[in-house]
Amino acid sequence: MKIKLIIASILFSVILFACNHIRKHFTDVSADTIKMAEPSKDSVKFTAAMVDNAKDATCGMPVTAGIEDTLHYNNKVIGFCSKECKDDFLKDAAKNFAAVEWKK
Ligand SMILES: [Zn+2]
Repeated sequence: MKIKLIIASILFSVILFACNHIRKHFTDVSADTIKMAEPSKDSVKFTAAMVDNAKDATCGMPVTAGIEDTLHYNNKVIGFCSKECKDDFLKDAAKNFAAVEWKK
């Protein structure tokens, strides 16, 4: 009778340990996934070399100052400092495209 009790308690602790272990592993994996999904602050999405315009067609800022968004239009890649500038450009894309200052 005593032996049965001891075996039962050993089994119980093994199960408890296994559960804890799995839960810990699962938590670690989720933490890694969240870390990977976060965009790195050092990464540069677009560079001035990737676009055809010299200046943001909406606000006039040079593309070398930083590009947050790009637009493919009339076989050109146009860089913008922000999504807002791109949206403004798209409000009258044909007219704005004609005024873009291209790289020389
Ligand atoms: Zn801009």
